[in-house]
Amino acid sequence: MLFIGPHVSTESHLALSVDRAKSYGATGFAIFTKNQRQWKSPKLKEEEIEYFKTRMKEEGFDKKSILPHSGYLINPASPESEIKEKSLSLLKDELDRCLLLGLDILNIHPGAYKEGDRIDGIKRSAKMLDDALEEREGVRIAVENTAGAGTIIGNTFDELEAILENAKHKDQIGFTLDTAHLYGAGYDVKDDIDGILDDFFRRLGKDKLYGMHLNDSKVPLSSKKDRHDSIGAGLIGLDPFLQIVRRNDIENIPLILETPDENRWAYEIRTLQDEYRRTH
Ligand SMILES: [Zn+2]
Ligand SMILES: [Zn+2]
Repeated sequence: MLFIGPHVSTESHLALSVDRAKSYGATGFAIFTKNQRQWKSPKLKEEEIEYFKTRMKEEGFDKKSILPHSGYLINPASPESEIKEKSLSLLKDELDRCLLLGLDILNIHPGAYKEGDRIDGIKRSAKMLDDALEEREGVRIAVENTAGAGTIIGNTFDELEAILENAKHKDQIGFTLDTAHLYGAGYDVKDDIDGILDDFFRRLGKDKLYGMHLNDSKVPLSSKKDRHDSIGAGLIGLDPFLQIVRRNDIENIPLILETPDENRWAYEIRTLQDEYRRTH
């Protein structure tokens, strides 16, 4: 099954995300379970949780098809004690929200080390994932690869591997590969998406790709920048995305569009679904 769909809004009611996803013909989707730019958000209400679950069921969305994205303030690699403390408590809260909603993966950014040694940032990031996962079963963290601007870690497979190696809860940690971030980080997905994915699977393991973010890029290879474009409209072009859905090892994981033009979402989904059906 190809689980594909956009990152949709939860405005007005969490369960409206299901309707929004459905309206584009999605078979999967992403949401923020709270305001992504605030440290604190109100608790999820019982009614909100139940209605979300009901609508998911009614529309036939499996939890495997959903990839919630954590808030932007969390910095697991931070050296500053106040940020560390706030990040950990928010990360725990976000994992608990996933559990309450019946979802089992949370996508997070690995963070920025700010100062000192890069490897220390990687170790801090791994430690925070462990601390957040402690006593939380039934939920996993997908660490998203980055374009690597400034002191942001996680822009190479070496660093993703190092995060995993430094963590204890390895069975609850995997990755999301974002194609625009790969391109920004210097992985030429336009030229060799298959080779790059094969390399990931060989090094990180077959079961470590928890999801993908399918985004074209407005900025060039190795720019270290992260500016998404609509599928086929950017510098990556349509072909690598068709190639991705032809593969057998990206089935049954959420493939999320974080593309800027929602008027193109239905078309993007249909194009990739058609190619999947044609080749499977
Ligand atoms: Zn992200
Ligand atoms: Zn992304």
